[in-house]
Amino acid sequence: MDRNDYRKLVDTFFKWDQESIVTILEELLSAAATEHALNPAHAMSQNYETAKANPEIHMLPGNLKDARDAVFPYFWGTDSFNSPLHLENVRGPANNASLIGAFACLLKNPNLCTDRYSQRSNELEVKSVTALANLIFYHTDDPWGVFTIGGTISNLYGAKIGIERVVPGAMQNGIGGQRVVGFCSEASHYSNRTVAGWLGIGVNNLIAIPTDANLSIRVDLLEQQLDECYQNGTKVAYVVASFGTTDGFGIDDLAAIRTLLDAKSTEYQQPTPQLHVDAAVGWALSFLADYDLGRNTLGFSDSLLSIVKRVQEACKGLRVVDSATIDFHKLGRGHYPSSAFLVNHRRDLKYLAREVTDTPYFSEAQASRDPALITLECSRPALGPYIVMASLNGIGLTGWQMLTARSLELAERLKQGLETLPYCKVLNRETIGVSVDWWVLPKGRDAERIYRQLVEGTLPDAEREQYFAEVARTQRKREKMMDPKVDARLGFTTNFGFKPFGIEIPAWKAVFMNPATDEEMVDRILWSVEESA
Ligand SMILES: *Cc1c(COP(=O)(O)O)cnc(C)c1O
Repeated sequence: MDRNDYRKLVDTFFKWDQESIVTILEELLSAAATEHALNPAHAMSQNYETAKANPEIHMLPGNLKDARDAVFPYFWGTDSFNSPLHLENVRGPANNASLIGAFACLLKNPNLCTDRYSQRSNELEVKSVTALANLIFYHTDDPWGVFTIGGTISNLYGAKIGIERVVPGAMQNGIGGQRVVGFCSEASHYSNRTVAGWLGIGVNNLIAIPTDANLSIRVDLLEQQLDECYQNGTKVAYVVASFGTTDGFGIDDLAAIRTLLDAKSTEYQQPTPQLHVDAAVGWALSFLADYDLGRNTLGFSDSLLSIVKRVQEACKGLRVVDSATIDFHKLGRGHYPSSAFLVNHRRDLKYLAREVTDTPYFSEAQASRDPALITLECSRPALGPYIVMASLNGIGLTGWQMLTARSLELAERLKQGLETLPYCKVLNRETIGVSVDWWVLPKGRDAERIYRQLVEGTLPDAEREQYFAEVARTQRKREKMMDPKVDARLGFTTNFGFKPFGIEIPAWKAVFMNPATDEEMVDRILWSVEESA
C-alpha cells in the first residue's frame, strides 16, 4: 500500500481540520437559512427510482466536500418543519439549545452502553433522567431511566417489566403458552400493538378499552375486563395509560387506574400489573405543574389560567404511576431521538436485569452504573441526554412554561373560534392540550345536533356516512384553495380516538407545536374554514 496515499486518507477523514469542518457547517447553516427565508418553499419531489437503481459509491478517496455533496440534495429536499404554518401533526422545529447539545455529543460520540465507553456522558444520562423524573413524577425519591430510540421502545420497556412481574422468569423461560394480557385505551398509540406483538404476548392480547367522549379510558369498563381476566386465570401484565393521546390529547385518570389495579390484584391475590403511562406527547404539561396561579408572574390570561389549573390537576396523576414514556423530540422540541423511559422506583429495574455473564464483552460491567445490564439495546447514542440537558437549562423552567402555555393558548383560541360556527364541532373540546380535532360540515348543518345523535346512537348509518364524507370533502376543498404563504397546513385523521358504538370518527386536526405560530394564523384558519364549508 502506498504510505503517502494512506496518510492523506487518514489526514482527511480522521484528523480534525477545524477550518474545513467549520466551512462546511457554515455552508449547511446558510443553505438552511436560505430555505427558511424562502418559506414556504416547495419540497423537492423524490426520486426513489434512482435511489434503488443507482446506489453509487465513489471509486477514489475524496474529501469532506464530497461527503457534503453526497447528501446535499437530500438535505435541501427535506423540510425542517420550521414554518409556523406547519400544524398537521406532532412535529415541530427543533430548538437551538438542542442543536448545541446534539453537536457536542456528535463531536465526542459517546456510547452509553457502559460508563467505560461514555465516561461523564453516562453521568449526564443519570442527571437528565433524574431531572425529567422529578418533573414528571414530582420530586420522586429514587427514580431511574434510560434514553431509547423512540416512544415505541420506551413503551416496550414498561410492558416488559409488567410481563416479568406476572410471569417471573419470562426473560429466561418465555411465557410458556400462558395467556398474558396488557390493557390500553382505544385512543392509545398504535405502538402499543407493536410492542405486544414484539414481546410475544400477541397483538390480540392487548385489550383496548373504549374511552369516554373526552378520550379518557373508561375505568368502569377496565374494571369489568380485569374481573373477567382474573376470573378465568389470565395474567394481567400491564396497563399502558395515556397522558395526551396523539390526535386529541386525551388524558386517562391515572389515580383511578392506580386504585383499581391495587384493589383488583389484592382481591384476586395476583401480582399488581405495571402501570405505565405513555406521556410521549403530554409530559410537557408538567412544566406547568408548579406554576403559581395566584402570583401569575407570566401574566397568563384568565382563560389560560383556568386551563393551567386543570393541567395541574391532571399532572397529579403522574405521581402514582410505575413508569413513563416521554418524547423530548415532541413538545421538548428536541432533535431525534430523545425519548426516555423513566421508572418511578429504581428497584423495579430488577425485572430487566441481566447477569454480567450474559454480557461477556462487558465483563467489568456493574449494575449500579452500566445501563447495558438492563437495556434492550447494546450500543446507545448519547444524543438524548445532551439534547435534554442543553434544552432544559438553556431555555429554563420559565421559558418552558412560556412555550407550553403558548401552545395551549393557541389551541384554545382555535377551539373558541370554531365554537362560534354552527356547522363546526370541536370534538376534543374538554381535553387540555395542544391539539384540536374538529368537523367542518357544509353551511346550514347543525354540527352539534349531528354529533349528539351520533353519540346517543340515534344517527342512521346512511346519514352518518354522508356527514363523514362531507367532513372529508370540506377538508379537500380547503386543500385546493390553500395559499401556502398564509394558510396553515392542517392534518386529517380518520379516527380521532373516541369510538361510540365502535364507530371511527374522522376529523380535521391542528397541532400547535411551533413557537412562532400566532393569532393571525389561527384566525386565518377560521376564515378558511368558513370558505370551505
Ligand atoms: C409519538 C407517539 C409514540 C411513538 O413515539 P415515537 O417517538 O414516534 O416512536 C407513542 N405514543 C404516543 C402517545 C405518541 O404520540
